[in-house]
Amino acid sequence: MKKTYLLTPGPTPLPENIISIFARPILHHRTPQFQALFEGVKTGLKYLFQTKQDVIVLASTGTGAMDAAVSNLFSKGDKVITINGGKFGERWTKISKNYGLNPIEIKLVPGNAIEPNQLETTVRSNTDTKAILFQASETSTGVKMPTPEICKIAKEYNLLTICDAITACGVFDLPMDAFGLDVMITGSQKALMIPPGLSFIALSDKAWAMRERSELPKFYFDLDKERKALSKNQTAWTPAISLIQGLEESLKMIKEEGLQNVFARHDLLARATRNAIQALGLEILASKSPSPAVTAVKVPPQIKDGKAIPKTMRDKYGVTIAGGQDELEGKIFRLSHFGYCDRFDITTGISCLELTLNDLGYPVEFGKGVGAVLKTFANAKL
Ligand SMILES: *Cc1c(COP(=O)(O)O)cnc(C)c1O
Repeated sequence: MKKTYLLTPGPTPLPENIISIFARPILHHRTPQFQALFEGVKTGLKYLFQTKQDVIVLASTGTGAMDAAVSNLFSKGDKVITINGGKFGERWTKISKNYGLNPIEIKLVPGNAIEPNQLETTVRSNTDTKAILFQASETSTGVKMPTPEICKIAKEYNLLTICDAITACGVFDLPMDAFGLDVMITGSQKALMIPPGLSFIALSDKAWAMRERSELPKFYFDLDKERKALSKNQTAWTPAISLIQGLEESLKMIKEEGLQNVFARHDLLARATRNAIQALGLEILASKSPSPAVTAVKVPPQIKDGKAIPKTMRDKYGVTIAGGQDELEGKIFRLSHFGYCDRFDITTGISCLELTLNDLGYPVEFGKGVGAVLKTFANAKL
């Protein structure tokens, strides 16, 4: 027998009370029962996004909402700035190009956050730009981007801010309205602790005005249609009903814990993980601006086959973590610490990492990483 654990930045583990919801008989969506359910979900999503705007629910993964953001707000030839800090930032560039936009891409060294000066220089030399497209947390490198600074520059130059908050919303404090974000996006299989299949997108008044002027073709992801349906507690097409029932429960859990407490828990788990990594003599990729969602760790030179770390953890010990993607494949591994995750998930993950590093020939003094984790918890006020 081998018990399994999931420490990946999406999908994240499902709480037991959410799993049981998916065994219910299906509910029909054009009914008062569904409308009542959806009305509650609408309120919960506003709380999660910290916005007064409606949050639209789409039946797609997170990328669907990214696609919708581009197709609903822009027209062919529009110039936008994309911040490419890794695989997900690169996705903004790809989507923009596919729709015939003209993206000016700022490509960062993997593990680095954008420097506000660097962004401002690019904005200044591209005065005809419409928007900045970025990630609040770049999951592929474990970097937290400076969202308030990005918003400040956008405001100064009258640009829209389009934020992929898929591993940020519900992970750390990212108040959409207070920061002045024009578009904020998340997905179900991340901090919301439900399976993949739902994405979420909210627009500011300014972004809704852009929607009116956009000339790109859109049909399934027409946000205007969704907004009209939402005003009647409905969706334009058949919603992913079971996932929305799970969402109701997950939003309740977040409300009960309190958003700020959720953020404090994630921060503690992230600090414990980083302390363990340092105690084991390993290096964090995003050491200057680490994301509270996920910690990316450089594979030490003693281990030649970097992919063996996540493979051994999963196949030998039952702990699934993420490896690196594209140019970072085999060079990093990533430990996630958000969603349905608490102190003992981290303790387990780090103990498994110690065994694995030892198996692969990296010198480990057993308990050093775990000790750092426990010390972090003992010293915390939570
Ligand atoms: C998970 C993730 C996405 C969305 O990926 P999907 O596979 O479409 O759900 C986008 N951006 C970031 C930052 C992510 O972490």
